[in-house]
Amino acid sequence: MCGIIGIASNKSVSINIINALKKLEYRGYDSAGIATVKISSQGLKGSLTCQRAQGKLENLVKLVDEKGAPGLLGIGHTRWATHGNPEQRNAHPHRDSSGSLAVVQNGIIENHSSLRKELQLQGVKFVSDTDTEVIPHLIARELDVLKSDNQTINFILYLKISRDIIQKRILGRIICEKCNRTFNEFKDKKQIEKHACEKKYLLKRKDDNKESIITRYDEYMNKTKPVLDFYSSRSYFYEINGNEKIEEISSKIEQILTV
Ligand SMILES: [Zn+2]
Repeated sequence: MCGIIGIASNKSVSINIINALKKLEYRGYDSAGIATVKISSQGLKGSLTCQRAQGKLENLVKLVDEKGAPGLLGIGHTRWATHGNPEQRNAHPHRDSSGSLAVVQNGIIENHSSLRKELQLQGVKFVSDTDTEVIPHLIARELDVLKSDNQTINFILYLKISRDIIQKRILGRIICEKCNRTFNEFKDKKQIEKHACEKKYLLKRKDDNKESIITRYDEYMNKTKPVLDFYSSRSYFYEINGNEKIEEISSKIEQILTV
């Protein structure tokens, strides 16, 4: 299982991201990474730093100590290999070709090979064997279209494009074993949570067996949720709900950054 954390704060976030990843170590991992954004006074014209290391979190800590990961916004990931060997180049976050946007992801992108082919035909060069890498390239391609139309990319537009891509292009099925209803893991978060059958252990990913579903649900409730609660109670953690209005997300993040 992967571990994922995203933090916006009015203080440097790299230490807290690494501490959160330590609390998620029980999920198992083969590599770890962090991406942070140092935002300039021009808003989005920040600079992105991405550090990734194979093996234990100590390797990532060493790298961050040596090379730094400055910024008030950041994401972190511990990876349990599904697509591609446990190597640094397959560790998350994954970036677009310009290195200006970074993505971490959990779950399986079922349509990743067709998306990869589509992007390769347009000249995109992939640097990892992961399914995840299609996401930053898809978002970057959309941003390039807007930029060539001379549109100004503000934070809200950026979030909207990212969500659109994830919800409309990325497919990861979760099936309810009881009623056979199918959800898209990357789109139907609220419906999955509210599903009438209620029992999350009935919701099955493509590669799941009964044991892994029960383990995932129990571990989420007993180990992952307390980590999320810890950070949200300190109000520098904010979980973005898939159906929430982009404007609200944007203003909440801005508030956190300037507290
Ligand atoms: Zn059901």
